[in-house]
Amino acid sequence: MEISGIERVSPKLNGDRGAVNGTGSDKLNGRVIRELAAEFGFQLAGVTSAAPVPDFERYRDWVDRGLAGEMKYLTDHRADIRGDMERLLPGVRSVICTGTLYNGPEPYSTEFSDPERAWISRYAWGEDYHDTIQARLKQFVCKLQEINGGEWRSCVDTAPLLERSLARQAGLGWIGKNTCLISQKEGSWFFLGEILTTLKVEPDSPAPDRCGSCTRCIDACPTTAIVPSAKGGFELDARRCISYFSIELRTSIPEDFRAGMGHHVFGCDICQDVCPWNRRAVVSAPPAREELFAPPLERLAGMSKTEFTQLFRGTAATRSKYGSFLRNIAVAMGNSEQTKFRQPLERLAGSEDPMVAEHARWALGRLAISPPPGS
Ligand code: SF4
Ligand code: SF4
Repeated sequence: MEISGIERVSPKLNGDRGAVNGTGSDKLNGRVIRELAAEFGFQLAGVTSAAPVPDFERYRDWVDRGLAGEMKYLTDHRADIRGDMERLLPGVRSVICTGTLYNGPEPYSTEFSDPERAWISRYAWGEDYHDTIQARLKQFVCKLQEINGGEWRSCVDTAPLLERSLARQAGLGWIGKNTCLISQKEGSWFFLGEILTTLKVEPDSPAPDRCGSCTRCIDACPTTAIVPSAKGGFELDARRCISYFSIELRTSIPEDFRAGMGHHVFGCDICQDVCPWNRRAVVSAPPAREELFAPPLERLAGMSKTEFTQLFRGTAATRSKYGSFLRNIAVAMGNSEQTKFRQPLERLAGSEDPMVAEHARWALGRLAISPPPGS
């Protein structure tokens, strides 16, 4: 999953802005927006007010208590911008939230077990959603502007927004205990996008919370990263989350959490895989790029930096760094109980990168105490 409670990637302030002024719209409402959004390939859409988001206080508290770990894009000056969308688009009055499904035909990570293969998160198996969704959002903005003028700005992880809170307010779904946005009809495999506008558009109503007494995501999380919140409900402690370790953390992974990472080398889908609302999630994305679905660990361990760059080119996994990726592969090999990985690990233990070498030594130590295969 994404590092939840939060955003998936570093925001960049490079959204799209329209040019015509306007203050209200009698031609746009939630129904019209949804019909138009569907024309541009958005399966989910809704509208909310651009007033300060009530969840901001909870987010600020989450950051202040250090639960975001070292994710600077969530904790630096951009944290406060999330409480004031006026700083992103002066005069903003409404936000259109969109969702694009990305579930493909491949099995869930919880249905797949091959100790010799790595797991890369589902959202990174295809084309980089930042590019594809931003292109469609821009076309959508052109259409909206043509209908009623106004100023517009489109964002897909490109501006500091509380995007899941906005999407919840706009009726796209509720924020589950796994901290992902869940649509009752579509599940949680979707990318969010937002369009800010100076027009006032009638807001939609928030969707009800349908988690009930379920705790499957909490029970399934290998590193107990979903924790009770003092403010009620649950929250993500990113400092315990496999997605954080494998993508965001650029330094050593704390030893206590390495075993729990299993074979995850980029992200983690477990708390979405086990969610009952994803049981019947519609398959709407094309099959994964073959080399990204559960690639063999041994092949990944032998990649040069150039091969690593080629592997992820054009995907959302370009955020991964070569050294961090080799570090994750070493951990996955150490967790595999496969003594055949001793040789590639010994090579990684001789790496010039001290972080990679240290994780490879840890993995060799773990393999040494692993039970022999078939025992
Ligand atoms: S299952 Fe746990 S570790 Fe994995 S993404 Fe969810 S919260 Fe993070
Ligand atoms: S697994 Fe259960 S508790 Fe967790 S998000 Fe899904 S419905 Fe909610």
